[in-house]
Amino acid sequence: MQLYTKITIALILGVLAGLVANILDIDPLTRLLVSIEPIGTAWIRLITMVVVPLVFASLIVGTASLGDITKLGRIGSKTIVYYMATTAIAVTIGLLLSNVIRPGSGMSPEGLEALRSNYMAESASRVEMAQEAPGLADVLLNMIPRNPVAALAGGDMLPIIFFAIFLGAAVSALPKERRDHIVGFFDGLNEACMVMIHWIMKLAPYAVFALIGAVIARFGLDVLGSLLVYVVTVLVGLALHLAITYSVALKLLARRAPLTFYRKIRGVQLIAFSTSSSNATLPLTMETAEDVLTIEKEVSSFVLPLGATINMDGTALYQAVATMFIAQVLIGDISLVAQFGIVLTATLASIGAAGVPSAGIIILVVVLEGVLAGSGIDPAAGIAMILGVDRILDMCRTAVNVTGDLTAAAVIERSEYEHALRGGRAR
Ligand code: ASP
Repeated sequence: MQLYTKITIALILGVLAGLVANILDIDPLTRLLVSIEPIGTAWIRLITMVVVPLVFASLIVGTASLGDITKLGRIGSKTIVYYMATTAIAVTIGLLLSNVIRPGSGMSPEGLEALRSNYMAESASRVEMAQEAPGLADVLLNMIPRNPVAALAGGDMLPIIFFAIFLGAAVSALPKERRDHIVGFFDGLNEACMVMIHWIMKLAPYAVFALIGAVIARFGLDVLGSLLVYVVTVLVGLALHLAITYSVALKLLARRAPLTFYRKIRGVQLIAFSTSSSNATLPLTMETAEDVLTIEKEVSSFVLPLGATINMDGTALYQAVATMFIAQVLIGDISLVAQFGIVLTATLASIGAAGVPSAGIIILVVVLEGVLAGSGIDPAAGIAMILGVDRILDMCRTAVNVTGDLTAAAVIERSEYEHALRGGRAR
């Protein structure tokens, strides 16, 4: 049986077990499912363990083999422009849907009060975390590490990317004999990381079952009732972004068949869904890009780690719908100008969100503050409303986030190797 099939079965079994425990209120089963969750957490740690060496090694090899440093600048600027554009489209889809469906208009006062009293304390702690998060200027400044070893030790992705590219560029300037030594070493390290990923992925079905079972068993299905329209709006938005934006980009820009592409990356999407973390999925994203999608390493080694850190279309779309929903419930309709503000802040905020679970809702505070400013309403009241369904939406938006990263890698590769690829390998 293929690994992908095993993971799918594990996912379905996990959902079923969780639902049985939840709906039938079987306490021992819930406790059992929650008690095996550490198996899933251990697996996430294993795969996260590979992230830093993999990104570092593959980025050095990728940059050093570019041969031409201006090419790096070109790939870099194209990637950033592409990431910002698709994120802005995602936010716009979220806003359009929120104007049409108006998820906040049918909320009952009792439902609102119940959500508030249940989640207010937890929500206040998210707002505090958001206040501690660095602003955009700091994020940019922090990209340059004072000490690259500290960045590697701390797993700080942007400074690691910055240093690896800088080092890779320097390696490419060395005489051939020297260069081959260093590239050979890091290439070997990169391959060893891939072997580790193969091993770790063999355990993925067990981890997926453990993670999903616990999430569903713990999930309060009653919360879903009052937030159903909101949840559906986010899900429809994510589905549209996938079906329209990415498919068009794949077809027209990457010249790949969208359905074949999605079939090839479904393992990555499932792992993103199960872990709610683009960072934890990154090793598999990189392996799939190289081995399954045969994307050139010099593109994927740069585009994918950067994407896992700064490109979050699913998160941005979710932030747009969440902001509109909260505004519709708490302050009524908001003007078009304010909605344009949401496009800007949600696009930038999603850059600042780390690729870890729940990062999106913490950074949502920034977007909410802009919209609620002057209304006297505390963003924590808004966050409290939607916190109960956040994990489920986090799983879905993370799957879209990684799809966006892989689509970008395919698009950028095509634009770089237009001639070489024309009529070339079947994709
Ligand atoms: N969990 C998401 C990710 O890792 C970020 C978010 O919370 O939206 O991509």
